[in-house]
Amino acid sequence: MGTGWELTSKLKDKIFKYALYNQTPVSLRQMVQFGPSPSPGSIFLASKFIVEELPIRLAKKVKDLELAPLGLNESPSTIKVKNWYAQSFQELTELKKPIIDDNLKKLLYQSNSNTTNTNNTDNSSTINSSLDDQPHLREEIHKIPDSLDDNPAINNIFSDDGIVVRHHHHHHHNHHNHNNHTIDRTRISKSNDNTTIRTESPTYGMTYFQPCPLNIIWPKEVYEYNKLVCEALEKIKKRHDATVATMAQGVQEWKTKNKTVLVNSQIQTFLDRFYMSRIGIRMLIGQHIALNMTTNSPTKQRISTIINGSQGAKTPRSNYVGVICTDCNVGEIAEDAIETAKYICEEYYGLFEAPKIQLIAPNQDINFMYVPGHLIHMLFETLKNSLRATIEFNIPKLKQKYMEENPNIKYEEIDLNDLEFPSIKVIISEGIEDIAIKISDEGGGIPRSSLPLIWTYLYTTVNETPILEPEYNQTSFKAPMAGFGYGLPISRLYAQYFGGDLKLISMEGYGTDVYLHLNRLSSSNEPLP
Ligand code: ATP
Ligand code: MG
Repeated sequence: MGTGWELTSKLKDKIFKYALYNQTPVSLRQMVQFGPSPSPGSIFLASKFIVEELPIRLAKKVKDLELAPLGLNESPSTIKVKNWYAQSFQELTELKKPIIDDNLKKLLYQSNSNTTNTNNTDNSSTINSSLDDQPHLREEIHKIPDSLDDNPAINNIFSDDGIVVRHHHHHHHNHHNHNNHTIDRTRISKSNDNTTIRTESPTYGMTYFQPCPLNIIWPKEVYEYNKLVCEALEKIKKRHDATVATMAQGVQEWKTKNKTVLVNSQIQTFLDRFYMSRIGIRMLIGQHIALNMTTNSPTKQRISTIINGSQGAKTPRSNYVGVICTDCNVGEIAEDAIETAKYICEEYYGLFEAPKIQLIAPNQDINFMYVPGHLIHMLFETLKNSLRATIEFNIPKLKQKYMEENPNIKYEEIDLNDLEFPSIKVIISEGIEDIAIKISDEGGGIPRSSLPLIWTYLYTTVNETPILEPEYNQTSFKAPMAGFGYGLPISRLYAQYFGGDLKLISMEGYGTDVYLHLNRLSSSNEPLP
């Protein structure tokens, strides 16, 4: 709004046509196969894929929003969100297409057996000698790994399962790469299952990841196109930062207009689907941007997406492929979430120290492949809830007790810092299939009659919902303690996105246990609505 951008009927027709295409799932495995230092060629092919695939997904969202039930589609904020999607669709479909000449074709689609055998010295001398006439390479050099052996995601981790890698429809003969069994095998095993599905989707038969040589010099067009796509995606990602909050506002407007307090089940289903597919789109975009800047540690970003102005990166890690961490340390992530939640809590209640949060784990290093950003989000939200419940439920009891011990003081005069709140426990367990985390508090629980409500959007027991600025954006926004009623339902979607779940069990009058079950992602496929 106010940008002068308008959804024309011509564009709308195009969008509705795209909305009919099938989406092509991108498995987590594919996203990880790039390895910590992806080949510019693979990024190039992935960029081409994403420029075709994203418009389909964005188009489906525009259509969904256009047809949102019960008049939700008429809320001004819903329309605003819809226009964001339409605008992003337009930008991507109008993006300049790359020119692929014969030389580039050869490099892209014909795995070059000698590249895998090249050792470091050869490799760097090739690059150095040509550096002067190819200045774009300067910044790329440090991204090129010493050899393919340094690329665990490609060589080791997934060498034993049926990774969904379908090769691009042309130029995949002459494949002599004996170092890379995984890719060879899956290519063959997948080559004939294409016939069963009939579709005209532009991404039909394409995959996000395709192996390309790592240590060759790519033509400048490759870098230019990668940069073009990356910049377009960054712009889009930023545009949609405020989607959850703006959509929440749309629902709020709808509630006001319909004079209702509760979100009915049709709206609830709509929102679950909407936010779930948003997670998928964000994951694709986020992963692609991160792959483009693999030298940067995402640790910093993951914190700052939750709380603005928080501490920066710890140690940079090499076990990241884009936003996915191949051996994500659950304990460390939990500690980050605990610190952040406590900080927010201290600010909000004016406490020197938030209630204690105990971390209990059978051993120090529980690692699994996950997206740290998702994990920290879920833990942060549930911990905030537990902290708030612990404080608010216990204040009257503890103040009463304090007055008995100090007869001269009045109830209102008691400083919260003089009260000792029961601690919260975070218990981590590790199984073969699951990583489970239980967050246990003594915050008085939730009455049984309210339990179904906590999963509905905009259900909150906070009296004053924080007000969003009209020009709200994530970066200038400080995470609130509570108040939107989005914490639990969105966290559950994150858990379910990778095949896990989030459950809550309450003992009214005592406390709440939240169970977070996370799949070890060995078999997770992208859930597409
Ligand atoms: P926000 O969107 O900012 O998280 P919120 O905390 O109100 O706002 P949810 O996290 O979805 O929204 O929680 C919904 C409601 O469930 C809370 O308002 C609270 O009443 C109840 N609740 C959640 N967790 C707990 C808990 N551990 N103990 C007691 N009540 C809880
Ligand atoms: Mg909450």
